[in-house]
Amino acid sequence: MRTVIRGGTLVSSDGAAPMDVLVQDERVAALAAGFSGLADTWQEGADHVIDATGKYVVPGGIDAHTHMEMPFGGTKSADTFETGTRAAAWGGTTMIVDFAIQTKGASLLAGMDAWQAKADGVCAVDYSFHAIISDVNETSLKEMDELVAQGVTSFKLFMAYPGVFYATDSDILRAMDRAASNGALIMMHAENGIAIDAIVGAALARGQTDPVFHGLTRPAEMEGEATSRAIRLAQVTKAPLYIVHLSSTPALAAVVEARDRGQNTFAETCPQYLFLSEDDMARPGFEGAKFVCTPPLRPREHQAALWRGLRTDDLSVVATDHCPFCFAEQKELGIGDFTKIPNGLPGVEHRMDLIYQGVVAGEITLARWVEVTSTNPAKMFGLYPRKGTIAPGSDADIVIYDPAVTQTISAATHHMAVDYSCYEGMQITGGVETVFSRGRQVISAGSYTGEQGHGRFVPRDLSRHIR
Ligand SMILES: [Zn+2]
Repeated sequence: MRTVIRGGTLVSSDGAAPMDVLVQDERVAALAAGFSGLADTWQEGADHVIDATGKYVVPGGIDAHTHMEMPFGGTKSADTFETGTRAAAWGGTTMIVDFAIQTKGASLLAGMDAWQAKADGVCAVDYSFHAIISDVNETSLKEMDELVAQGVTSFKLFMAYPGVFYATDSDILRAMDRAASNGALIMMHAENGIAIDAIVGAALARGQTDPVFHGLTRPAEMEGEATSRAIRLAQVTKAPLYIVHLSSTPALAAVVEARDRGQNTFAETCPQYLFLSEDDMARPGFEGAKFVCTPPLRPREHQAALWRGLRTDDLSVVATDHCPFCFAEQKELGIGDFTKIPNGLPGVEHRMDLIYQGVVAGEITLARWVEVTSTNPAKMFGLYPRKGTIAPGSDADIVIYDPAVTQTISAATHHMAVDYSCYEGMQITGGVETVFSRGRQVISAGSYTGEQGHGRFVPRDLSRHIR
């Protein structure tokens, strides 16, 4: 199978230039400067020729933080690996990295097996896993080495959720020590869960049960404190550290300070922290529950600092933390008690479009859009240069993006298996036109042309951002 994509502007993390792309089977075979005439010779015997005139040709998005069909408080997130990866494809994301959860008291490897079984044979695009460590002990520490050998090279710990995923400083230190020796990357949910639980308890005792109190009981300072602590623990062990879903200025300040010292510290943020705010959680009635995620949406003042962090590379990656729960029956579990609202937002479909709005608004460059949504996640999680770039030999995960179209985000038209959108009615400039996953067209002319099970598990190398 031979495909020629010609006439477009190829955008990489280095810049943009008119380039034609030759795809042979699952890989990129060659690039040629536009107008070089080479594409004319490629066209002979090609199965498909795509005219990308006026469009951007970009590497497929990589969403390094999703939670498909994740158990939470007696329910589970609404997208399966099948529906979630299909929605990802619609939005120009051709790879997700989800989280396999270790059940407390069970083994890390058993958690991985359980998540592999959920994803096996159903995904529309490629996928991989991080492992969540719920139980740090001698066995799970040894299993980290084994998972690294299997291509699972990143491990997430939680400083939040006492009694569920919470890791003590001792647990964190031991896991970091192991990562320092086996080359893995430690990912941290950085919020001081012990202090937050006390604040939550006091709020409930005062009868403060509305959704907005989810946010008000998790102050940004508690994210800043935990981020600083994680950074210092990592410094002692010399382990690289990646802060997930960074949402606030105190946490960003801690990351900036560490990076300025030269410590291997990285952070991701998510579209919801760039576009939504505490005001959304305070919408009347119970509607605010649609916006309950952790860390919570912050006051609008934090957003400018996050955009600046994206420009300066203090924030290296944009992921979604996609963890959708329907408003009906799922979010509604928390009526009368915000602590019972399942935490998480839908987002996997709109990350590329939303961050492109940063290009439209002049917050980031076109090249930086590609870098934070594709190239950096590929490097950070050991997928580069197989993913995250359009170069000879790389997987032909390619998005043709039309900067001229406009669209309106709505639950009525999105493809995620959830009954609302956080961005309902939002006008977007730009849109995905065609998507290739390993050389196969999965989105074409407004329809899904992919296939359940086309997506494969991708074992990962060690992070390239480290050392
Ligand atoms: Zn998450």
